[in-house]
Formats: sequence, C-alpha cells, structure tokens
Amino acid sequence: MLDVFDLLDLEHPGLKAVKAAVRSGSHDRAKELLVEYYRTRGQPGWHSNKLEKRLFAFQDDATADEILARKFTVLRKTVQLERKIAWATDPFGSREWAWVLNRHCFFQTLAQEYQRTGDEKYAADFNEIATDWIISNPVPAECANNSAAWRTIEAGIRMFSSWPIAWHFFRNSPSFTVDARVLMLESFAEHADYLWKFPTACNWTLMESNGLLHVGALFPEFKDAPKWREAAIERLSREMAAQVYPDGAQFELTTSYHNLSLWNFLQPAALKRIAPSLDFPAEYYDGLKRMMQFNACIMRPDGNWPMINDSDLGKVSYWIVEPAVSLGADKLPETRALLEIERERDSVFFPYAGIFCMRTGDEPQDLYLMMDAGPFGARHQHEDKLNIEVCACGRALVVDPGRYSYHIGAPFRGSGAHNLILVDGMGQNRAATDPSRWVVKSPAPGNRWMSAAEFDYAEGIYDEGFGPRNDISLAHIRKVFFVKPEYWIVIDVLRGDGEYKFEQLWHFVPGKVAAGRGFARTDTPDAANLAVVRSDDAEVRIVEGEETPVLGFVSYEYNEREPAPTAVFTRTCAAPIAFETVLYPSPAGKIVVPEVRPLECTIGETEPRPGRISAISIRLPECEDIFVICHEQKMVGRVKRFLGFEFTGEAIWMRTDLKGGVVRTLRIGC
Ligand SMILES: [Zn+2]
Repeated sequence: MLDVFDLLDLEHPGLKAVKAAVRSGSHDRAKELLVEYYRTRGQPGWHSNKLEKRLFAFQDDATADEILARKFTVLRKTVQLERKIAWATDPFGSREWAWVLNRHCFFQTLAQEYQRTGDEKYAADFNEIATDWIISNPVPAECANNSAAWRTIEAGIRMFSSWPIAWHFFRNSPSFTVDARVLMLESFAEHADYLWKFPTACNWTLMESNGLLHVGALFPEFKDAPKWREAAIERLSREMAAQVYPDGAQFELTTSYHNLSLWNFLQPAALKRIAPSLDFPAEYYDGLKRMMQFNACIMRPDGNWPMINDSDLGKVSYWIVEPAVSLGADKLPETRALLEIERERDSVFFPYAGIFCMRTGDEPQDLYLMMDAGPFGARHQHEDKLNIEVCACGRALVVDPGRYSYHIGAPFRGSGAHNLILVDGMGQNRAATDPSRWVVKSPAPGNRWMSAAEFDYAEGIYDEGFGPRNDISLAHIRKVFFVKPEYWIVIDVLRGDGEYKFEQLWHFVPGKVAAGRGFARTDTPDAANLAVVRSDDAEVRIVEGEETPVLGFVSYEYNEREPAPTAVFTRTCAAPIAFETVLYPSPAGKIVVPEVRPLECTIGETEPRPGRISAISIRLPECEDIFVICHEQKMVGRVKRFLGFEFTGEAIWMRTDLKGGVVRTLRIGC
C-alpha cells in the first residue's frame, strides 16, 4: 500500500499545514492534520446529509445490533460469522453471498443507527470492520474478478455507496480513528486506481465508472483525481451511446438491470450538485431521458416494472425517483427534469427492444399487456421471446416468474417459466445461437405494430429453433389484438411440418385457479380475475409448486419464491396450426368466462387449411364478437366469407348484438 502523502497533491488548497508536517518529518502529526482537514472541509462530502439506506443496502437485511454480533443476513440468508470476518466465506455454495457481503452495504446500516442513536459502539464497530477488511484484502496487482473482495463490480459499488456514505456519516465520531481514516483514504485511492485500470463491460462497467467518478469527485486532493474523473465520464458517456438503444432500453433488455444501469448513469449526473465542475455532454442527458421514458412506458399500472429476463419486481418510484430526490437530484436542473418524465402515450412499441406495451390509461385499474419480442439481449437473458404479462382491474394476473437465484435459477430462465409454447416439451434456445445477433443495430426484425384509439395490434416471431440443438425448426408467430378497453385475443401460429405436442403455458399470480377443457381462470372473489379461453378444447392441467421439473412458482425477490398456479394447455396435432386464445379480465366480484368457438370461414368456395386463417366467435353475456385474421399474405386480398358476411383484408373484428346486428367493426389492412 502506498503512503497517503505520496498519493495526495499537497499543493491542494487547505493542505498547507499537512504539507509542512510531512516536510518536517512529523508523520503522525501530518496524519492528524490530514484527518482534521477531511473532518472539517465540508464539500464535497456526500450528496446529502440525509442517509439514503436504499442505495444497495436492500441486499443486506441485518440490523445494526446483529452486525455487532456478526450475524449477517445477506440476500435473505442469515449466517453467524466469527468476530474476525472471513471475507471469502461461501456458506451456500454460491459465491453471490460473499460478493454481496464485500459490498459492505451494512456500513450504511451501522451509519444509520449511529446517526439515529449517537451510540459510539456502532462507529467503533465500523472502525474495526473497515480496518480489518483493508488489511485482510490488499488490492491485487491484476484484475481479480474471481475473488470475493475485489471483483470490479464490488469495488465500484463500495466507492459510490457504502464507503463514502460511511466516511461522511462517521466523520465526527471519536471512535473512527486517525489510523483507520488514513487506511481508508489510501484504500479509496487504491480502489480508484484499480477501477481505472480494469474496466469490464455491460452494467458492470457502469458501476465501476460510477465508483471511479465518486472517488475522483469526492477526493479532489488526490493527484490522480482529474484522471479518474475524466476517465469515468468518458466511459459513462461511451457506454450510454453503446448500451442504450434509441428507444431508451438498456441493451441487456432486463428491466431490473435497465434500472440498475439507469441508477449508475443518474447518480454520477447528480454528483454535479456537490462537484459542480463535472461536465456531461448533452447526449448523456438525452440518454438518461430516453431510459426514464422507457420506464414510464413499460411500467405496469401498479407502478412495478414487468420482470423481463433476470428481474425481480420493483418500482421505478422506489428504486430510482425517491433515492435520486434524497440525493438532491431534484435540486439540479438537468436531473430534476428527468425525474418528472411522464409517458407521452398509452400504448407503445419499442422497436429496438422489441417490446410491445398495450394499455388503456394511467390508473391502477387500467388494462395492461406487455409482449416481449425482442433480441436475446447482452446478458441476463431468459428463453422468453413472445412472453406476455397481463395486468387488469387493479392487479397483475399473468406474469413472468422472475429471476429467483443465479445459483439455482436455470428453471426460471427456460421457456417453461414463461407464457409461451413448448414443442414436444422443448423450449426456445437462443443461448446456442450466434451472440452477434443478441444485440441489434437496427430495429429488431419480424415485429409489427399498429396502435389506434379502438385497438392495438402486435405481432412477433420466434424462428430460431426449439430444443437443445435447436433442431425443431418450427416458427412461432404470436399476434395480439387488443379490443380496447376490454380484452385481448392472442393468436399463436406454429409454422412448419410434422406432428408435435404443443403446450401453451400461462403463469398466473399466486391464488386459486379454476380450469376445464379449453379454459383456465383465476378464482379470487374479492379481486380482479382473468379468464384464459381457447377456441379448441385443449386439455388443461394446473401445475403449482412442482419440483421435478420445476414449474408453478413466482419469485418477486432474489432467493425467494412461492408456489403459483401455471395453466398448461396441451394439444397434439400437425403443424401448421393456429391456436386462438382470449384473455378476458373482469373486475372484482364479477367473473366473465367468454365462450370461444371456431367459426366456419371460407375463401372463395373452399375452407382454408389449418394455420392459414383464424376465425373465432367470442360469446359474451350481452353480445357476440367475431374475429378473423389471415396468416398468409396471399389470403389478405381474397374474399373471406363467414356467417353471411364477407371481407377482404388482413383482419376484421366485429361486435354483434344478440339479434345479430353489427354494432362495432375494427379492421386491419382492409
Ligand atoms: Zn423470465
């Protein structure tokens, strides 16, 4: 470890006395003067004098007194450690526990309790743990992303959260010793040097750069501080251009990591308030704005983001807006504007992310459907192309079961954990495809989107193969027609040859479900419900909490899961084939299950072969709706006849009253 006085620019204003003491060889006196300088220097201290514990500390649930007793709860798993902490401890065969322990989120818990009580025991314990960590974990000469202590991501997180927070909030404590403070100062510089030397990629590099910028901005007295700041801003700006699509989605296409990335772009921008000389290019703020707009558009009516890829459930207001305000980002014109973003329209398609969001409005009761037909994504991918989530009438009804755990999360990554179709029990397998296609340079191919006042229409395709070798070469085309503001029609076209067992899955939120041939519906009397009704009499089974294979769970938080019913509609038949499914939501106290039947439809004189056209009748209490849609381009211009009506074009939806009179018509390409 280098001597702190070699690292500092002793010409820096305020360090005159320190410099004189160093020159006169009074090393201990110089350390005391240096510590006193930092204790009293004021700005830049920390973003805020209010302690925002939310900043990564959510991964650490131990109370301050438990930390004193070395009983740590990390990622919801509790371990009793020795007084001297074994920093690389791996109690669950998963290194994640040790990694998160080494983020030192618990410093924030100790600091918060110290601030609340003024009890020096919390400061003394922080002093002991910080000293021990620094001495026990010398900075490696090379990038050590296999180590528990010095993965670059942990080094970055420590520098933009737990360490400067502890440094600031314990600054007036007599228990925070001169030696510990000097050790920490030296380690701040070593962290910055390490982060400067070893940048990685994806969301990691954002956390590394955020940490690097914090050290450079909060400790301008270090000789290398200008170099660290410049490198951090350059890297963040470069990554903003590289990682954020024109439609605002971060290229991992994982909602939790979109927001983790957003935070690591936003917190550096907020740092400008206490370090005004920091300068970000205009494109940087534009990127932040697009990321926030993406959030505003994709957000479910309950304020949570949908759990796409390795995501837990989370609210933008809770994880981004409130912490940013608590750090004072609302006091800075550039960042204040970002926190006030509102959605420009209700239904939105993100062409690069390939995500469709249909909704009726902004209220919790509004209807919402998200379909993910995007590229595989840079990291954290699930085999989930064409997955759907549905919220209506005040609650989520059909969800992606989430991330669960990196250690045992494989069943949550596969197609079986999504609202998709399995073919002969096999799912999608984009993990085995060419990685150069996982991130796109232009809008994701194969998607179509129409949005009008009375309907939305979305169409996506998965054609990269099913099974471990991707050798089942069927194409799955999913079409969603939203009859605003009532219900959705989902058409699954399986294009190809041969006979297969097709299993269509619908992952409901925890609760009771009723099912019969061709339908499944949630059965909660005092809340909203959803009926999923097919036009065929597909066999349905409900699976809940099954371990072999894992099916019928939902996970809202890391390392936690609960049983939840999954409806599996099974049909063995030849491809090409189209399955028509109606998703019909009902408000609390009223469960409507429409009767959905195939409808006879002819093209000229002939009945079309399966998979070329879908024609269904949807019988509701007060009316009957008809939906006809072509699946082959050559059918579009031809005359289709059904129930005494005829039309040319791609699709038609009609509502008839009980006497058969047409009361409303919607058309695509007619
Ligand atoms: Zn998923």
